[in-house]
Amino acid sequence: AGAKVLVLEALHEAGGRARDYRWTTGPHAGHSLELGVALIGTAEQTPFAHSLLADELGVRLYSFPVWGPGNCTGWGSLNCRTALLCRNGEGEINPFKTLFPGIITRRCVGSAKTVAALLKVTAELMLLTSGVDVEAPWSHPKAVEWDSQTFGAWLRAACDDTPAYNYLKLTIEPDLSASVDSVSLLHALFMSKTGGGVFDGLYAFNNVKRISGGGGAPALKMAAELGAANILYNVRVESIRQDEQMVEVTSSDGRRWGAKYVVVTGAPSVVNKVTFEPPLPSLKQQVLRNVPIGNAVRLSAVYPWAWWRSRGLSGAWGDEKNDSILPLGMDMTPCDSSREHDCDGAPGVIQAQVQGAQADALLAMSHSARQLAFTRFLAQFFGSDAMSSVEQLVDFDFAQYPTLGGGTQAHFPPKVWTTSGKALRGPVGRVHFAGAEYSALRFGYLDGAVRSANATAASLIAKLGAEEGLQRAR
Ligand SMILES: Cc1cc2nc3c(=O)[nH]c(=O)nc-3n(C[C@H](O)[C@H](O)[C@H](O)COP(=O)(O)OP(=O)(O)OC[C@H]3O[C@@H](n4cnc5c(N)ncnc54)[C@H](O)[C@@H]3O)c2cc1C
Repeated sequence: AGAKVLVLEALHEAGGRARDYRWTTGPHAGHSLELGVALIGTAEQTPFAHSLLADELGVRLYSFPVWGPGNCTGWGSLNCRTALLCRNGEGEINPFKTLFPGIITRRCVGSAKTVAALLKVTAELMLLTSGVDVEAPWSHPKAVEWDSQTFGAWLRAACDDTPAYNYLKLTIEPDLSASVDSVSLLHALFMSKTGGGVFDGLYAFNNVKRISGGGGAPALKMAAELGAANILYNVRVESIRQDEQMVEVTSSDGRRWGAKYVVVTGAPSVVNKVTFEPPLPSLKQQVLRNVPIGNAVRLSAVYPWAWWRSRGLSGAWGDEKNDSILPLGMDMTPCDSSREHDCDGAPGVIQAQVQGAQADALLAMSHSARQLAFTRFLAQFFGSDAMSSVEQLVDFDFAQYPTLGGGTQAHFPPKVWTTSGKALRGPVGRVHFAGAEYSALRFGYLDGAVRSANATAASLIAKLGAEEGLQRAR
């Protein structure tokens, strides 16, 4: 559209929470593994991510059913030739080759009572989700009631069966990027709706396509296209001052830039670290202050190759033991096995995504203690090779980077959506807010970040055009 733009990035490269570990030497050189963004949905589920990645940037997306890449007959059928391992509440580990009815049997999730409880809660969640307006979740007639209780309290009351509760908790917490007791019921329903409904938004059925080259590859490509003159790295914005005509941005090392408009990105708690002059309106300050981002980490055990596949195992597990530190994980071998030579030299990877208290406990360990704890855990499911043949542990603590924040996405504790939630998205004068947390649809996902960026860019282009028109008319 001809508008001039300058990007100020606090870190040494573009991507933010979309970043990868890249092997530059050794047998896996040229391959990369996701530390943040890894999977998106189908073109119907996440159209904005598809349009940017595949159509505009020409990045290849490939199918990656999380039960076992290259080994499934198709996500639609939910059948895999290799087995997912499930440890039930009694500690028995059983293999499953089909999700339905395989996993929902007495051998894993539990009794008929458990299955009935799961179906009942799912139906209730679907009903409640249907009434939520993602543009204005605070406007539902029951919003205050739903926002005054934690999702965990609601779930325990709705689910009178402990194994069913444990199963739902381990399934849903990765999608909330928080414990069920840290968010309000209203926020859980919002996350369900924004993600595309209970199955996509809370049970992660929207994780089906993987980005060739890693989740950070598209951002690196965009930064290269933008050109070195238009993006400055290692510049942390400390304050933003605005008046009716201009915005002035000051970095932590005292440099200043003037502009007509500024777009601020990052999770609310990250944006809250910037000083605004004049101060932001009170409700905007409240929402930025009260919406935290927890910890989320992808822990990856790296092996010379994906040896579990030849043993009929998909590399995925679910652990329903109450105190499990690693309730869910999967094969995340970083290549497309349906494509000739794509997997040449690729490592085999088993990955767990953990958040909340489990992430805190694991991140408090030294790197070597974490590797030992993780591979010892995996050995219970996959045998001693999980410990003896591990090459390295790859992980990344997002909380160590103040401009990234910590978890997958921000989460709303009780009484935030209904008190200050409406102030989250809108601009304040010449300052606009864009990113995954500022999108009503696909909040917290890459797709949401692209939606929000597109809408903000369109709004600014219109404003700049109108201002130019006014100036010409004078
Ligand atoms: C472990 C993990 C797994 C995830 N998995 C997935 C997934 O599989 N699929 C999916 O769709 N999403 C996933 N996500 C979520 C996804 O990463 C985010 O929704 C998305 O990347 C957010 O993009 P954003 O541009 O809104 O914010 P960010 O990625 O946080 O980008 C904000 C940028 O602004 C910079 N910045 C912030 N403040 C300042 C400042 N003051 N000065 C200068 N620069 C600043 C930051 O350094 C950063 O580069 C995951 C996230 C994590 C952490």
